[in-house]
Amino acid sequence: MRQPASSSGNKTAILLVLSVMSMLVFSVLWQGSTAVMSHSEEGHVVMLDPGHGGYDPGAITSQGVYEKSINLQIAQKVKEMLAPSGIQVFLTREEDIDYVPDGVKGKTTKKQIDLNRRIDMANEVKANIFVSLHVNATATGQNSGAETFYDYKSESGKELAVLIQQELIKIPGMNRRIAKPGDFYVIKNTNMPAVIVEVGYLSSLKEQKKLQQTWYQEQLSRAIAKGIASYFGLP
Ligand SMILES: [Zn+2]
Repeated sequence: MRQPASSSGNKTAILLVLSVMSMLVFSVLWQGSTAVMSHSEEGHVVMLDPGHGGYDPGAITSQGVYEKSINLQIAQKVKEMLAPSGIQVFLTREEDIDYVPDGVKGKTTKKQIDLNRRIDMANEVKANIFVSLHVNATATGQNSGAETFYDYKSESGKELAVLIQQELIKIPGMNRRIAKPGDFYVIKNTNMPAVIVEVGYLSSLKEQKKLQQTWYQEQLSRAIAKGIASYFGLP
């Protein structure tokens, strides 16, 4: 699960999309084509963000499976897998913690303080990309499979999301979803290209069992690691 950027800003968002689109059209007409710097020429620093932690468990199943634990297990595997590539990987948390000081009240305030700290951490290490890892859940339990979201304003974010999702859908039995734009706090407020990967649905009984298995977590982690490596032009 992830934090929506706002619950009442839909009209504003539509207007923004329209104005951004018209600006884009205008700038393309005005400038013609512009050269795009390859991401392989930039640094190779990744901030991986295992979603939730500490007071905030994320999605929970009636069997007592916590989203925050799966997010961390996958993040640690992605970090290990990227180590040989020379990509520098940081995690926003290495254990079951949050970044909300004692005494802070209010669900939204606590969530934003926690997310802002993670965004600051990415800035502090000068991360080139930010990858937030989550597990989804729905009330009906009918959905399954991985989804990757990017901020619609970020071309590089989209590129990263597409590369990761392309690898995820190669996993046997996975859905064929494509990367999607999403209106979420963390991907809107980072300075670098950012994506949210929802690796699957805890609300699907079948998928919930797989998501706890090391072999399945490794398949997901390898796909995410491959997507990140190809973003930087690395094998
Ligand atoms: Zn989540």
